[in-house]
Amino acid sequence: MKTNAELWVIKIGSNSLLKEDKRLNIQALEDLCQQIKCLRDQNIQVILVSSGAVTAGKGLKSEITSSQGEVAAEQVRAALGQPYLMETYRKILADLGIAMGQVLITKNDFDENDTTTNIHNCIQCLLENNILPIVNENDVTSVRELMFTDNDELASLLALQFSADKFVLLTEVKGLYDKNPHDPTAQLIPEVKNLEDAKQYITDEKSHFGRGGMLPKIRSCNKAAHMGCACLITSLATQDVLIQIVNGEKCGTWFPPREDISLNNFKKRLLHQFSRAKGKIIIDATATKLFKDHSRARSLLPVGILDVQGDFNKDDLVEVLGADETHIGLGIAEYDAQTAQEYAGLQNKPFLIHYDRFFVYQ
Ligand code: GLU
Repeated sequence: MKTNAELWVIKIGSNSLLKEDKRLNIQALEDLCQQIKCLRDQNIQVILVSSGAVTAGKGLKSEITSSQGEVAAEQVRAALGQPYLMETYRKILADLGIAMGQVLITKNDFDENDTTTNIHNCIQCLLENNILPIVNENDVTSVRELMFTDNDELASLLALQFSADKFVLLTEVKGLYDKNPHDPTAQLIPEVKNLEDAKQYITDEKSHFGRGGMLPKIRSCNKAAHMGCACLITSLATQDVLIQIVNGEKCGTWFPPREDISLNNFKKRLLHQFSRAKGKIIIDATATKLFKDHSRARSLLPVGILDVQGDFNKDDLVEVLGADETHIGLGIAEYDAQTAQEYAGLQNKPFLIHYDRFFVYQ
């Protein structure tokens, strides 16, 4: 593989790969693989993040009896569906002369530097050997709070870790619309410059089979765009969508790289490690407004804190959210969760996050 190759992280959701009867849509998989081959032929390396295991498992066996409860039944569906999904990819790709390797990841794997490095090294080595990495969350072992919110989050983490040139989310809708996409008057938003622009268009419609919805996709693109990656939400239903992207066609909703922002290395590292956040700090509307004014750096004071969630210690990474769940940023806590809880809403208390150790989304 040539060294000057571009790298794309492509994530495909369950809805794009499965039919109503929860059987794999072989034609969709063939189409995707064929387009990936075209990208590789043009010296574009691809990391594919594919959902679909759990739903495919449901398609294989609709009734699972479980003395261990519904969570175990869901693990069983993943255990059934993942090899079926991979076998289908393997066969299709083999016919195209492409070798693939399965990489199953849990959120915990990104908690430690060693395992993060192991994942990185493995995927890097697959790419060097011209083997297509196909990544999914390991839904057999990661359940409930151990899980990623969805594969959008996992895929954006990989886009950040590998400094991908492009991050493409293939979903059932063709991008972000100004209203519910099922409304015939809905218009596609071609470009989103920041999270605030996008939020006004989001309906809380959830996807049919997968765990995500539009909001996590937008958040994932926003993170990657902050690191200089060009992101796109689009659909496999658009003919030759990946080829169209290579040819510079406008298809879907773009999140251009935020070249206007320069992050120092420490703040870049915070963003890279977003999945390691140990707690959530919910701030009030006044504080939210202050942090949305990016003209100067600000520390987070307890007076603006509404709620403290999770159990963190001094020097742990925490996520800061507005009361409406807007992602404000990520920072290093100066004291633990219990102290933060005691100080929440009070004046004249020491800052929880110093601006030097606070990355704020723009
Ligand atoms: N990892 C899940 C699966 O393969 C999907 C998660 C998601 O919907 O993002 O079934």
